[in-house]
Amino acid sequence: MAGAGIINTNQVVYRPRVVVVGLASCFGCQLQITNIESHLMELLGQIDLTYWQLASSDPMPQYFDVAIIEGAVTTQESVETVRTLRRKADTLIAIGACATTGGIPGMAGGSLGLADRAAEVYEKGSLPEACGEMCVPRPISSVVKVDAEVRCCPIDSYDFVKTLHRLVYGSNRAQLTSTLCGECKRNETTCFYAEGTLCLGLITRSGCGARCVNLGRPCNGCAGLSPDANVDSARDACVRYGVSVERFDKALEMFNQFELDAVLEQEQAQKAQDKDEATTNQASSEADASDTGSRG
Ligand code: SF4
Ligand code: SF4
Ligand code: SF4
Repeated sequence: MAGAGIINTNQVVYRPRVVVVGLASCFGCQLQITNIESHLMELLGQIDLTYWQLASSDPMPQYFDVAIIEGAVTTQESVETVRTLRRKADTLIAIGACATTGGIPGMAGGSLGLADRAAEVYEKGSLPEACGEMCVPRPISSVVKVDAEVRCCPIDSYDFVKTLHRLVYGSNRAQLTSTLCGECKRNETTCFYAEGTLCLGLITRSGCGARCVNLGRPCNGCAGLSPDANVDSARDACVRYGVSVERFDKALEMFNQFELDAVLEQEQAQKAQDKDEATTNQASSEADASDTGSRG
């Protein structure tokens, strides 16, 4: 993290000033932070927690070094908040599925469209003013650059502490990008697909240690899509193991609607490109054949 570590110069200890902000969320990830009292006290000795919506009514300070954001961006107002936090902070950390993938608020996007989704709750044209100017729910990283993410719904408290430590003291440890199945293999757990049960671990980012699978539950994909994910191959695997592809796609919406839209867009663009190439190749083969015919 650029310049946010503890600096001890001439006996003056500088502790990074940290703010914690909640956007569209259930506050569950912030509660997870309060659940680690012993580590929290140690952590509080190393940072200057200057603003925390959940724990204090103190106003947001003008200057700070680290901004921690929970929740999805769902309004134009929150877009501006995130931009302001990015401008002011050296380091910006997104915590929880809502902030890192769009999470559950992200389900309001998708094929139905935001306006029609809102109309399921409110009469058309009668959105309460408190809803603000809504936009398609999205992760923080789709608005500004994010320096670190703590994934999952809710976050793992120790994962949060480790991430903050890493940033305060500086570390170049890379984020995991592989899929969850690798962790499952290392844990030597039996794969859900062997019994024809849907599990999103096939395309989900590793890092949680396959927490749910260890507890006997399939993965819901709360860590988001892995950069190594191959959604099409995962659908093929569903077919091979007798799991409904429709259910697979539907399950992805819970935490991955925003990324899914991007994946579907890419897939459509790829299909269109493949079709164009096939048409061009066919036209060129026909031209070659007719050329050969006229010469013959
Ligand atoms: S990621 Fe889950 S626990 Fe955290 S704020 Fe969002 S819904 Fe709540
Ligand atoms: S699909 Fe699920 S149960 Fe199977 S190996 Fe991957 S994470 Fe584990
Ligand atoms: S196993 Fe899947 S749903 Fe469970 S915590 Fe890990 S990523 Fe989230």
